[in-house]
Amino acid sequence: MATQEELFQRSLLCIPGGVHSPVRSFQNLQISPRFIRSGEKAFITDTDGKEYIDFCMSFGPLLLGHADPQINTALKKALERGLTFGTCEPYSLDLAEFLIKNLGNPVEQIRFVNSGTEAVMTALRLARGFTKKDKVIKFKHCYHGHTDSMLVDISQGITEHTRMDTLVLELGDRPQLKKVFQTYKKQIAAVIIEPLPCNHGLIINDKIFLEYLREITLEEEALLIFDEVITGFRVSFGGMVERLKIIPDLITYGKIIGGGLPVAAVAGPRKIMEYLAPTGSVYQAGTLSANPLAMIAGLTALRQIQKIDYRVLEERTLSLSKIFKNWFRSFNKGEFSRFNIHTFESLFSITTLEIDQYFPSLFKTLLRRGIYLSPQAYEVGFMSMAHDETVLVELEKRLWI
Ligand SMILES: *Cc1c(COP(=O)(O)O)cnc(C)c1O
Repeated sequence: MATQEELFQRSLLCIPGGVHSPVRSFQNLQISPRFIRSGEKAFITDTDGKEYIDFCMSFGPLLLGHADPQINTALKKALERGLTFGTCEPYSLDLAEFLIKNLGNPVEQIRFVNSGTEAVMTALRLARGFTKKDKVIKFKHCYHGHTDSMLVDISQGITEHTRMDTLVLELGDRPQLKKVFQTYKKQIAAVIIEPLPCNHGLIINDKIFLEYLREITLEEEALLIFDEVITGFRVSFGGMVERLKIIPDLITYGKIIGGGLPVAAVAGPRKIMEYLAPTGSVYQAGTLSANPLAMIAGLTALRQIQKIDYRVLEERTLSLSKIFKNWFRSFNKGEFSRFNIHTFESLFSITTLEIDQYFPSLFKTLLRRGIYLSPQAYEVGFMSMAHDETVLVELEKRLWI
């Protein structure tokens, strides 16, 4: 069997940077990424046979842990019946009805796609088609996938036109928001936000700011889009919409919705959703969208997730924080079943340079001890239902070896 290093050297030849998504890269860590052979519950095992407690959890989808037996059984049965039909089948209908019934307002209709990026791209196009306006507002420190307009502040390869149509504002800055709405009167199609940002440490949005967003978008006839790709089904079944009781116009879901297979969705009221083709003139399509395998994985996952007591998940996240905190002084905090090895405060009170300096040694120390974090300092860690008391005891043991 090839070593991790050999596998990675081969990857570097045929894949840019050796990875299929930059967040998987170990670029700043001076070691090669782990090649994972298998996962079960809260654990993953690499091709050398070394086992890790997984706190990356594929960046969020696996709320039930790896290799959930019910999902596996359902998928094995589904495999026998064929992979994709490119027409209607009953499973996407079951999942759509299940979601509409359990999510409630504003979800009256749903369109399934394959990734969070696609869901956001579709929601933005739909908002433009519905409002007949061009510009969208997004916020710094919120991630919405890799569609052009959502990357204007971080990527090359984006046209000047797209840049002009995307306004990137500071989170929580009401005067700035108000000014932008005045400057671009009747030009703003939508405001998109992560109601609980999970892609840049542990930022918490002020609820009053989110309520203000709802107010101003109603006044200015722009759509409010909550991107719940990461928070949907994680902070409660109905995501932040349920927790905040703020009703946006459109919601995007992803990650957990597919139970580990590629599923995402745009959801909203019928009067907006019907602007999508074929009823409306906003085009959107997908060869493998809502394929039966992905739909069955999502449905089997969500039926279990619907019964979760989210308080248990949060209590365990607090216990986890205490364990890390004992070991690593002040640099940890966790809530809503996510955590970061740096607190939000520390992210902003120490410089990026400092984080870049100490994160590699922290990450490698944990890796050696059989604890796997996301290899990026700013990404949050994720708990799952499989991270139970015994896993926490095991974590403590591995930390204090
Ligand atoms: C992960 C994520 C996306 C992108 O989803 P992909 O499936 O990776 O394309 C979009 N928005 C948020 C909030 C996310 O966390």
